[in-house]
Amino acid sequence: MLPETTLAEAAGLTMLNGIAVDEYGRTSDPAIWAAGDCASFPLPGDATGARLRLESVGNAIDMAECVAANMLGAAQPYIPKPWFWSDQYDVKLQIAGLNTGYDRVITRPGTGAGISFWYYAGETLLAVDAANDPRAYMIGKRLIEAGRSPAPAVVADPATDLKALL
Ligand SMILES: Cc1cc2nc3c(=O)[nH]c(=O)nc-3n(C[C@H](O)[C@H](O)[C@H](O)COP(=O)(O)OP(=O)(O)OC[C@H]3O[C@@H](n4cnc5c(N)ncnc54)[C@H](O)[C@@H]3O)c2cc1C
Repeated sequence: MLPETTLAEAAGLTMLNGIAVDEYGRTSDPAIWAAGDCASFPLPGDATGARLRLESVGNAIDMAECVAANMLGAAQPYIPKPWFWSDQYDVKLQIAGLNTGYDRVITRPGTGAGISFWYYAGETLLAVDAANDPRAYMIGKRLIEAGRSPAPAVVADPATDLKALL
């Protein structure tokens, strides 16, 4: 999928994988702002200048709220908390975080047909993919947003009570 940037390009805005915005959602023209699928923004805390462009309803809503507030003077940087969902036939896929840069995946059986995949870079938990396992998704999301990384071996152990990790 590609962002529709014809109008933005005609307006002379800077493009970097979509419409380039700063941490507040402002484009290269200070009078124009962008949010959602079409906008790429600086990856928070990254000194290399890496950017993110997310395609999800959650990001479209959260970023739009933040950028709208900034248009009114809030001056609050957009800090994404990426999450995604998709229903694929009888599988509800829920994803928390971004797995870019992972070097290890822990597979954890859930209840029933549920299963989850926990992505680590070293000892740092980056993302959780949960298939028919909403409990793993919710707990993984809370851990990632809190910046907490349970040891991979602990997550891999089916006897671990995930809730206790919070
Ligand atoms: C097939 C499919 C499945 C998806 N499934 C999921 C899912 O399961 N979960 C999930 O989180 N996300 C899903 N997404 C992604 C989600 O739909 C998008 O992330 C979300 O709609 C982005 O919202 P937005 O407002 O940024 O952009 P959009 O919803 O794309 O809205 C942009 C609007 O701007 C209009 N527009 C563009 N240029 C102009 C112009 N020059 N003048 C006037 N209007 C213009 C477009 O017509 C469009 O209506 C899916 C997307 C697709 C295509």
